[in-house]
This record gives sequence, structure tokens and C-alpha cells, in this order.
Amino acid sequence: MLTDRVNTLSESITIAITTLAQELKAQGKDILSFSAGEPDFNTPKVINDAAIAAINEGFTKYTAVDGIVELRQAIANKLKKDNNLTYAPNQIITSNGAKHSLFNLFSATIQKGDEVIIPAPYWVTYPELVKYCGGDVVEIETSDETSFKITPEQLSAAITSKTKILVLTTPSNPTGSIYSKDELIALGKVLEGTDIIVASDEMYEKLTFDGTFTSCAAVSEDMFKRTVTINGLSKSVAMTGWRFGYMAAHDTELIKATKKLQSQSTSNINTITQKAAIAGLDGSADADIEMMRLEFIKRRDEAYELINKIDGLSVVKPDGAFYLFVNIKEVSSDSLAFSKDLLDKKLVAVVPGIAFGSEGYFRMSFATDIGTIRTGISRIAEFVKECR
Ligand code: PLP
Repeated sequence: MLTDRVNTLSESITIAITTLAQELKAQGKDILSFSAGEPDFNTPKVINDAAIAAINEGFTKYTAVDGIVELRQAIANKLKKDNNLTYAPNQIITSNGAKHSLFNLFSATIQKGDEVIIPAPYWVTYPELVKYCGGDVVEIETSDETSFKITPEQLSAAITSKTKILVLTTPSNPTGSIYSKDELIALGKVLEGTDIIVASDEMYEKLTFDGTFTSCAAVSEDMFKRTVTINGLSKSVAMTGWRFGYMAAHDTELIKATKKLQSQSTSNINTITQKAAIAGLDGSADADIEMMRLEFIKRRDEAYELINKIDGLSVVKPDGAFYLFVNIKEVSSDSLAFSKDLLDKKLVAVVPGIAFGSEGYFRMSFATDIGTIRTGISRIAEFVKECR
């Protein structure tokens, strides 16, 4: 009954573990969950107020498929101000989250036989979407020894005549690594003379703790033309449930194609979200963003120190995002079994590295309060001691 296409999809392990942890919690178990990729803060008031005003003003009807011009102009202004990128509103389309933007991008560009290069560890959704669209995933393995970043040599070796897209995530989920400007320039040089598209997922841009964030498209004219910039507000202003993301591209034909696809599938994103998103983009929420960023830095520093004190575990300090990607190779070679046992025995939920394509690690989100982080890590320490 089901298509081959839909049968290629696997369930997200991240969501599965988060749901299991929620179920156990509902049964009254003292579960500490570090599995979700979601800020624990509320959406800033200034954004909520913009949404409430939209409802009260009757701004609740269909809009243009790609979003109201005022919103796309706010995105263009943000890209200019924060990223030094010049896009016009017709080079931008808003969608139901960055996940939807990626779905649109891959649907519009990938067909059977096309290869998509994805550095591992990766965000779980990329390979699934590529497979769904009939493409083949080409992974580039990285490790904590290179701060989980690919080198120009690795990229060059992965490219074939079938390569269609290179996916880059900076800052990264699950590792928090950030590519420097020079590193992006070096990767861009490898792509020169090819038709390869760079899908640059910049979801965690505002959660940069160390180093400077640089947009892929900003490093050269060549990179600007080949890069599709993907971003949204889920992580920066805690708007995960509002469903807002966008794609910006130099190529207006690509934007038109995704607009056509969206017009026949989901139409415009929620009208109220569009008004709220303007307040998330135009600087009104900057103080809230900074408050959250500083809080994440405190948690990251403490969690990083506590994990590295555990005999058998080690972790690279993440430059951004809100995850620690912890090396467990001295303790276990099976991250799924490790994570299941940790949940069973110590009631701590983390995501196994294998879900992100990298065995020998687990991902722990620090988007939760410091007390939970302290207790959770002390339980992890007990568990590791018992494993050895
Ligand atoms: N990109 C990355 C790297 C993510 O980690 C996530 C969410 O976990 C997304 C995109 C999806 O974000 P959205 O909520 O906008 O669909």
C-alpha cells in the first residue's frame, strides 16, 4: 500500500527518545531529559504581542505563498545587517520551519542518482530528506580530533560528477562547531568551477559563544551565487512551535520553483506567525536573544567541565548551539545500547551518536536548567563508573 518513497524514511531517533522520556515521566518516573533540541525559554513577549495584535486586527487570512512582502523585507534587512548578504524579497521564501525549507530545496533540486554530501555527525533530517527525494547520501566522516569539521581535501575527495549539493551546518547540531571565515573560503575554493549547490543551515547562528559566525554565502561572490541560506527563529527566539523558517538564494528560478511546490502543498505559512516573525527579526527581541545566549554560555561552561571530569568521557567545547557531543569510546562502542541503558538505569535521556551518523558519542542538550544539568551529569558519572 505504501510507496517506496515513504518507506525510505526512518523515524527520527531524537523524537523517539524524547517521546519515550516524556511517557516515562508521565508514569511518574524521575526522568531527566537532555534529548530535545528545543530552548527551555518562552518566546519573548514582544513577539507574542505582535501575534496577538495580528489576531485582534483580523490579520488571519491567506497571504502570498512565499510570505508577506513586509516579512520578506525584514528577512532581507536581517541578512544585510547580520550577515552582509544582499538579497531582494523575491530571492526569499518563508516556510513552515527550516525543516520545510530544506524539504522544498531538496524536492526542487534532487532527483534519482544525484549525490548529496553530508558531513557526519549531521542533523538527523538531512539524509532522510535526500533519500526521500531519490538522492544518494555521501557522508564525510569527522571526529572530535578535527572539531568535527571537514577539510578541503576531504571535500575534494567526496565530489563526483553526480554531486548536486553540499550540506553545511554552522554552528552544528549535534557538535556546536563553527566554521571560521578562512575555513569556509578554503571549502569554497574546492567548489569553484562546479555547479554544486551549498545548502547552508544557519539555524543556530544567534547561539554563537566563541569565535565569530560567518555566513557561507558571505565569503566570496562564487559562494554567494551557489549558496542557499537556510535559517529560522526556532532556536534563536524559542519559536519552535510557531513554525517559521526561510530560504534565501541568488537564483530566483530556484525560489520560484519552491514557491510553486509550496503553492500546491502547504500554501503560505501561518499568517499570525508571519507578523510575530517580523518582531523576531527586526531587532525588537535582541535583548531577549542576548539574555538566552548568556544563559546558554553559563550552562555550556559548567556542563563541559563536569563531563570532562568523568573518567572515560571527553567532550570538545562547543562554540555554539546548545549541545555537547560527548565521546564515550573508552566506555562503549555501542551508543544506542549505552543510551538505552542510561535511560533504564539512571533515568537520563540522551541521544546516541549513531542517530547522527557517528558511533562512539552521545548528544546531550544543555537547553535545560542548571540544576537538572548538574543532577543529570552526576547520574551519568555514576553510570559510567558502573560500566567500567
Ligand atoms: N536545522 C537544524 C540544524 C536543526 O537542528 C533544526 C532543529 O532541530 C532545524 C534545522 C529545524 O528547525 P525548524 O524548527 O525551523 O524546522
